[in-house]
Amino acid sequence: MNRVTAYVGLGSNLENPLRQLATAITALAALPDTSLVAQSPFYRSRPVGPQDQPDFVNGAVGLSTGLPALILLDELQRIEKSHGRERGRRWGPRTLDLDLLLYGHEIIHSPRLVVPHPELTNRDFVLQPLLDIAPSLALPDGRTLEDLRAQCPDNGLHRLEPRHGPQTGP
Ligand code: AMP
Repeated sequence: MNRVTAYVGLGSNLENPLRQLATAITALAALPDTSLVAQSPFYRSRPVGPQDQPDFVNGAVGLSTGLPALILLDELQRIEKSHGRERGRRWGPRTLDLDLLLYGHEIIHSPRLVVPHPELTNRDFVLQPLLDIAPSLALPDGRTLEDLRAQCPDNGLHRLEPRHGPQTGP
């Protein structure tokens, strides 16, 4: 079975975001024909769009997977739902957001799935955790994460130190 390395971005700003991300990563690692190969530190970021909502916690993981891209998207959406994700206003608060950032070197433009993820290149809270786990990675068009991060506007990203014991908030 062919395996690809896929990168998934995670975000949450409701109901104990650190715990949301931790349990989502456990669920991702348990997907069929999939293993977790990298996990970034978590970051606190200011919300995009409406500011009357809590800060987000963001991170990224690398998966080695035999799942086709659309099946992986189905699984991401299932995990979002199981974390109580409801589709509300655009850029509104959410318990869990999972984005398929990269799927090997594939370029995908289907009605349900666009890869590389369109927000990948202009969001520091996506680029930075990805850069942490894949410092020499380049997009299918050849642009490196390092260059993209250097060009990306800074939005007050704050790296969270790993915690031990119960996690109570961002
Ligand atoms: P969001 O509100 O960010 O969770 O967007 C979810 C919608 O984006 C779903 O309808 C997906 O089908 C679509 N989508 C398109 N490309 C992607 C991607 N690379 N990762 C996750 N969702 C995607």
